[in-house]
Amino acid sequence: MKFTLFQKIYGSVLLVLTLAVLSASVVSIFELQHYYKQQFVREMNVQLDAVEHLLAAIQPDFKDMQDYAFFVEYAQRQQYRLTLNDSSGTVLFDSNVPQDSLIKIKNHLDRQETLKEKTTFWGRDKRKGATLHTPMFYTSKKCTSTGDVKMIRVVRNLKEVENSLQAIQRKILFGGGLAVLLFSIIIYVVAFRITYPIHQLARAAERIKSGDYSVRFADADKNEIGCLANLLNEILNKMNSDLVQMKKLEHMRSQFLGNVSHELRTPIFSVQGYLETLLNNPDVGPGQQKKFVKKAYRQAIRLNNLLTDLIDISRIESGEMKLTFISFDLHKWLQSIIVEAAETATENNVEIIFVNEKNEHIEIVGDQERLRQVMHNLVTNAIKYNIKNGKVKIGYIADTRSVEIYVSDTGRGIDQAHIPHIFERFYRVDKERSREVGGTGLGLAIVKHILEAHNSKIVVTSQPGIGSRFNFSLTRVA
Ligand code: ADP
Repeated sequence: MKFTLFQKIYGSVLLVLTLAVLSASVVSIFELQHYYKQQFVREMNVQLDAVEHLLAAIQPDFKDMQDYAFFVEYAQRQQYRLTLNDSSGTVLFDSNVPQDSLIKIKNHLDRQETLKEKTTFWGRDKRKGATLHTPMFYTSKKCTSTGDVKMIRVVRNLKEVENSLQAIQRKILFGGGLAVLLFSIIIYVVAFRITYPIHQLARAAERIKSGDYSVRFADADKNEIGCLANLLNEILNKMNSDLVQMKKLEHMRSQFLGNVSHELRTPIFSVQGYLETLLNNPDVGPGQQKKFVKKAYRQAIRLNNLLTDLIDISRIESGEMKLTFISFDLHKWLQSIIVEAAETATENNVEIIFVNEKNEHIEIVGDQERLRQVMHNLVTNAIKYNIKNGKVKIGYIADTRSVEIYVSDTGRGIDQAHIPHIFERFYRVDKERSREVGGTGLGLAIVKHILEAHNSKIVVTSQPGIGSRFNFSLTRVA
């Protein structure tokens, strides 16, 4: 049989207390009975002594009516029955029997209290009186100095004593019962107060099991259960924050996947479209054919750029891309970047100007190749989003501790509303223009990540119609 915690605490404590109260009641009842009995016997013995003393003093003759009547009255006043026997057991006097009826009374030698007398000196017996049917107490005493009387017997009604004893017993039992009842109420309250918070914890845990993480454990008491509830709440809070973070990441991941598939689909469909046109129209002239093949080729390049950027960004974000920091000459490095960008600049009719023409020796610290990627993306954007015959300025402003590197252009500029978003993946101000110039929508996101890994930050200032300026700072070697 399975008991609840409440039933176990309540049942066991109540059982122990009930047994304790019961045994205390039984012991006190027995003790009381014993005490009463002793007191009663002592009193009876005093009475026997008093009768003996009286008999010795008066030396009565029970054949004399007056003497007989004196002792009858004496016994009645003492509220007991007095019987006196001679050495043969013949009754000489009985306060309950008139003098003239004495002859009919049996010899008392066989009475138990008389028999006991032979061995214990004091003889007493408790038995139902033959006539009254009430408990009686018989005590007898053998005596020598009392003339013919050799045995004194006193018989007393026990009913009164037993009644008062029973009344006390009832009170003890009633008190015990009341104590058990009170205990049962107190134990009930205590057991409830102990088990209720545990019960609440279990209920909350059940709700969490069924997926409700908003549940919190009640911690009303500052005891062990309260501490446990607080601890569980802290775990739940942490779990909830982690869950929110996980959901956010999951959302970002699925959004990214959606964006990636969308970005990939466009060039693939274009290549497919151009090739289909070529297959279905074999009669078009070589000029047209070349045009379609060129277009398909441009899309393939775009696809390649997209994949390269995607691989880069996922390596950066997963922490897979490790940076190698070295110190290198800034001036020379920028010169090499300008050389690399020269072809694209010419293709787009854009002039690149290196502002710091004078060769200075400035050493900076960073991952040279990743920073080259940063500059490549910024310079390519400055060329791509420029106007015909526009200019791109590349330069640096050196401080004692750091160097600010900038790329500015005379291009279309970026509206203020777009600036906070241009570093997001696949965000484009002008989708058409980005596609036209072969943009992937990932260039600035990569720039932002790489600079963050250098403890730096990209800053943009731009005026629509006038141009933009991108700058960032790097640590200078003293
Ligand atoms: P994309 O591959 O499309 O160039 P980027 O992440 O490099 O993607 O840039 C995000 C968007 O920011 C571009 O689509 C473009 O609209 C805007 N942008 C970036 N650089 C410039 C610039 N120098 N001048 C004007 N707009 C720019």
